Amino acid sequence: MKNGSKTDFDVVIVGGGAVGATLALALQRMDYQVAVIELRSPSFASSDPERVVALNYGSRCFLESLDLWQGVEAVGVGDIRHIVVTEPGNAGRVDLDASDAQHYASDMHELGYVVEMGHLLEPMYRALQASSVELITPACVESFDLQADRVNIQLCRGDELSTISAALMVGADGTFSQIRSMSGIGTYGWDYNRFGLVASVTTELGHNDTAHECFRSSGPLAFLPLADGRFSIVWAATPGEAAQLLAMDDDAFIYALQKAAGAATISQIGNITDVSKRASYPLELTVAKSFSQGRIALVGNAAHTIHPVAGQGMNLGFRDVQTLIEVLTRAMEQQKSSCCDPGQSILMQSYSEQRRVDVMAVAGFTESMSHLFGSTVPGMKWLRAMGLKNLSGIPALADMLLKHASGIAQMKNQKHQETPNE
Ligand SMILES: Cc1cc2nc3c(=O)[nH]c(=O)nc-3n(C[C@H](O)[C@H](O)[C@H](O)COP(=O)(O)OP(=O)(O)OC[C@H]3O[C@@H](n4cnc5c(N)ncnc54)[C@H](O)[C@@H]3O)c2cc1C
Repeated sequence: MKNGSKTDFDVVIVGGGAVGATLALALQRMDYQVAVIELRSPSFASSDPERVVALNYGSRCFLESLDLWQGVEAVGVGDIRHIVVTEPGNAGRVDLDASDAQHYASDMHELGYVVEMGHLLEPMYRALQASSVELITPACVESFDLQADRVNIQLCRGDELSTISAALMVGADGTFSQIRSMSGIGTYGWDYNRFGLVASVTTELGHNDTAHECFRSSGPLAFLPLADGRFSIVWAATPGEAAQLLAMDDDAFIYALQKAAGAATISQIGNITDVSKRASYPLELTVAKSFSQGRIALVGNAAHTIHPVAGQGMNLGFRDVQTLIEVLTRAMEQQKSSCCDPGQSILMQSYSEQRRVDVMAVAGFTESMSHLFGSTVPGMKWLRAMGLKNLSGIPALADMLLKHASGIAQMKNQKHQETPNE
C-alpha cells in the first residue's frame, strides 16, 4: 500500500491490467476511495515479440477522457487508416477506408490504433502513482466475505496477511479470474482448439498504415501496422501447426507465413525480410454467466474472453468501464447526491444487463466471422469469394464491417443504453 494504513475503501479492484487500471482512475475522479490489488509488480519493458492490441476510435476517445491518450501516443502508435480483408486463393477482397468512417464521426481519421501493451500500461501506472488510488502490489486475495453492506477481503502479500473492506469489489483479474471463480459465477464458452501465434515482421514495402486480415480455413491471420513500420502478426493456428511454427528456424517460418498470407497480401506488403521471436496464446471463448453478484462486479477478460479475430477484447473491456461509470453517475444524479453506495446490487445488475447486450453482439459477430471463413463445406469457398468480391459493392454490408472494425457500432449502442430504473 502507499502508506499501508488505509483499510476501508469504496471500491477494491482486483487486477491492475489496462481495464482495472482505467477503472481505478475513472472512479477516483468521482472522489471514490479506490484500491487496486495486483499480483505482479508493474513492468512496462517491451517484450520480444511485442504483445500489441488494436484499439478502436471509441477506446481512443475513452483514453483521451482520462488524459491517458497523449502519453500512449507519445511512445508510438501504429495508425490503421485502411483495412484489407482477403482469403488466400480467392479473388475477392474488401477494402475499408478511414475516410468512409468520417460520415459517422468527422474527426475520425483512423480506423484503429496498434499499441504495445507496455506503452498502454505505463501512462496508466504513472497516473495511478500520482493519484489517491492505493496500489497494493504484488498481492492477491486469500479469501473474501460478502456481507449485505460491505465486502471484507483477506489480502496476502508475501507471508503477510491483512484485511481490507470495500462497498464494491471488482474482478478485473483476466481470463482465469480468481474473483469470478471464488464468487461461484459460472461461465460458458469453449476452447477453440487453436493458438494465437504472435510475432513482429519486417517487410520490403512496409505497411502504409494498412491492416491486412487474411481468412484461412484453419483460422485468421492478421497483419497489424506498428509505429516503427513493421507489422505485428496474430496467426490463429491448430495446436499441431502452432507447435511446428514455434519450432521452425526464421527462414522456414517466413516461408510458411508468406504462403499462409497468400499472394494478394504479399504483393501489397512485399516479401518478409525479418521476424522477431514468436509466442503463442491459447484461444478460447469464455463468457461469465453474470457480470455481477451482490457487491461484486466483473470487468474485462474476467467477464468475457473472445477470439482475437476481430481484435475487440480490450475495446470491450474499456466499454465495461465506461458503462460502470455511467451507471454510478446516473445513480448519483437520480439520488441528487455527490456520492452513492457503488456496490448497490440494483446498480450492479443494471451494469451486468447492459454489458451483456454489447458483449453478446460482439462475440456473435466474431463467431460468425470465424465460422464463415472456417467452413470447409463444399461451395462455401466459392460463396466466400463471391461475398468478398461483392461486399464492397453492397453498401449496407461493407458499412456493417466498417462500423464493427472502427467501433462506431458500439459507440452508438452505448449512447442508446437505457437509464437504470431505480
Ligand atoms: C493474441 C491476442 C491478441 C489480441 N489482440 C487484441 C486486439 O487487437 N484488440 C483488442 O481489443 N484485444 C485484443 N486481445 C484481447 C486483450 O488482450 C484482452 O482483452 C485484454 O488484455 C484484457 O484486459 P484485462 O485488463 O481485462 O485483463 P489482463 O490484461 O489479463 O489483466 C489482468 C490483470 O490481473 C492480474 N491478475 C491476475 N490474477 C490476479 C489475482 N488473482 N490477483 C490479483 N491480480 C491478478 C494480472 O497480473 C493482470 O495484470 C488479444 C488477445 C490475444 C490473446
